[in-house]
Amino acid sequence: MKQSVKLVAGNWKMNGVAADLTEVAALRQALSDTPPACRVALCPPATLIERLARDAGALIETGGQDCRAEAKGAFTGGVSAAMLKDAGATLVIVGHSERRQEFGESDALVALKAEAAIEAGLEPIVCVGETLAQREAGEAVEVVRRQVMNSLPLAAAGRPFAIAYEPVWAIGTGLTPTLEQIEEVHRAVRSAMIERLGLAAATPPILYGGSVKPDNARDILAVPEVGGALVGGASLKAADFLAIIEAA
Ligand code: PEP
Repeated sequence: MKQSVKLVAGNWKMNGVAADLTEVAALRQALSDTPPACRVALCPPATLIERLARDAGALIETGGQDCRAEAKGAFTGGVSAAMLKDAGATLVIVGHSERRQEFGESDALVALKAEAAIEAGLEPIVCVGETLAQREAGEAVEVVRRQVMNSLPLAAAGRPFAIAYEPVWAIGTGLTPTLEQIEEVHRAVRSAMIERLGLAAATPPILYGGSVKPDNARDILAVPEVGGALVGGASLKAADFLAIIEAA
């Protein structure tokens, strides 16, 4: 089955103020000079979504980094999927390991957030990934499979979504799995997606995330079943992010 076009998404995490939109302007210019072969997205902090969406142009999609599962209500500090959409986002990351770890987000909550995103018309990027202890115990495939089965809502069938496989121990560390390990987990993710959602899950992209840099992007993006990248640190500077986009 033909895979969807690759998606390279940047996760700015809690980095970025208005002055950093110069990086977006530089990226926009470079992409309009040489249109990318992949989809490109940036997920800035919520405070920048509206401005980034306005400035980014047609070749850069805008995403949130999280959303509440509820549509509205007394959740001080919370941002709903519909609010992200209203601000100009078309995607949202859910279940990032930093949120799973720092805020104790469970697979069930991540599934509710992904469902809320889909209902609001956003494309969720559902993150999964094993810890170092789980990898060392030989449990990586089993853990990730379970996360996919339990974090992916049935409502995703036939709707735009992506999975991001991000080994927790590879995020922000400069460490990456071997290409064989990435392929093994991505194949397991695909089969869990199909088991959960049927053949509708044969094409949505499975991104790899965790210390993707200009110097390793080409090899990682060429691994079978790698349908793009979720990029943290290297998405903050247009030149680095562009080099990754060009490798896709
Ligand atoms: C991330 O946090 O999603 C991530 C992949 O970070 P980094 O690229 O910095 O490892």
